[in-house]
Amino acid sequence: MKTIAQIAAELQGYDPQALPAEGVLDFLARLVTPLRESQSFALFEALGKVLAHDVISPLNVPPHDNSAMDGYAFDGRQLQPGKALQLRVVGTAFAGKAWAGKAGIGECVKIMTGAIMPAGFDTVVPQEMVSFADGNSDLIVMAPGLLAAGDNRRLRGEDVAMGHPALRRGQMITPARLGLAASLGLDTLPCFRTLRVAYFSTGDEILSLGQSPREGAIYDSNRYTVFGLLRRLGCEVIDMGVVKDNPGDLEAAFRRAAAQADAIITSGGVSVGEADYTKAMMKKLGDVAFWRIAMRPGRPMAVGRIAASPGAELGAVLFGLPGNPVAVMVTFLAFVRPALLQMMGCTDKAAPLLKAHSQEALRKKAGRTEYQRGWVSCAADGSLQVRTTGNQGSGVLSSMTEANGLIVLHHGQGHVAAGDLVDVMMFDGAI
Ligand code: AMP
Ligand code: MG
Repeated sequence: MKTIAQIAAELQGYDPQALPAEGVLDFLARLVTPLRESQSFALFEALGKVLAHDVISPLNVPPHDNSAMDGYAFDGRQLQPGKALQLRVVGTAFAGKAWAGKAGIGECVKIMTGAIMPAGFDTVVPQEMVSFADGNSDLIVMAPGLLAAGDNRRLRGEDVAMGHPALRRGQMITPARLGLAASLGLDTLPCFRTLRVAYFSTGDEILSLGQSPREGAIYDSNRYTVFGLLRRLGCEVIDMGVVKDNPGDLEAAFRRAAAQADAIITSGGVSVGEADYTKAMMKKLGDVAFWRIAMRPGRPMAVGRIAASPGAELGAVLFGLPGNPVAVMVTFLAFVRPALLQMMGCTDKAAPLLKAHSQEALRKKAGRTEYQRGWVSCAADGSLQVRTTGNQGSGVLSSMTEANGLIVLHHGQGHVAAGDLVDVMMFDGAI
């Protein structure tokens, strides 16, 4: 586990007062370490967890060569260019049991989708491609040129071959992966334990739900967005409420969070010139860097590790996010989410940024990364287009609720003209 100073020394041109977005990702990737403890989870519990070991298939899927269609199975060597083929139907093969008869040249077996291919037969003609000779349902005829030998047959092991890795360590269990594991007959999967994340909001002006409104105070929204973002990631959440801006309460909250959680997320109290104790307490209890990130919304952020008690080793990773509600969500999506996924042991590639035509001109200052709330849709010509969803103030959550992604205007990028291509990060289930 590296200290802030060690990581800073590894990075070329690291300036905590003007950190580009890529620098943040690079730093966090060096700060966090993946979980080690794993356990076996019943399949229904494994959804959203991360595989701790490769899964080697104990069997072939499918277990036998079988038909991909309802039709007639036959020996494909009889197919000849330019010649119709007539075959006598000598039996019926149903899914679930092998057809007991014998058949050969000049013969075929009526077969259902999924039924085992009769011995020696390698091709299936779908039933809609045949006609019956002289109205005789025992004699099928297929026109030439419709099929090649091997068509409409699924090979044993073509999905997953016995002894081969079917799933890999580091993959998050999706519905498809859950189904694949089940198709291998596995009723449990070895996954990393669930990441525990504690979070609290700071600030004397922040009201919890249930408290009466008072002048100058606002209701806490950050705890709810952070809760939602963490639950979408599959983390175990430890909600620690709103913590008042005094040293005693803050110290107790940080200690308690560090004792229970792998990561701590706070909001508020990290901007420059804050007349509060949050930063001082982070500094006192841990090894913490205070950044000004070249981004908007966002900018201030604290990261490091916090000790659960005086003299204890630095354990829980701290993400001290800004206070403004949209800044919280954007810094979470841009930086905290990838770091938490790394801690969860997940090595799945992040969804790629997509390119969309901006439907409007966007003002953008070069020298910082800007994230704008956007709605991506399909234009009449089939290309992607994106418009902003309204007021882009860093405290304006309503425009976030109308968005399906973020327009990412990169560090060196300047103003955008209507029609220009811009990068978009789709929320895609993260929100
Ligand atoms: P700070 O970084 O603490 O100065 O907070 C920046 C802005 O975000 C201030 O306007 C705060 O009132 C607001 N803010 C801080 N925490 C929260 C919260 N939990 N919910 C909603 N707004 C907040
Ligand atoms: Mg504050």
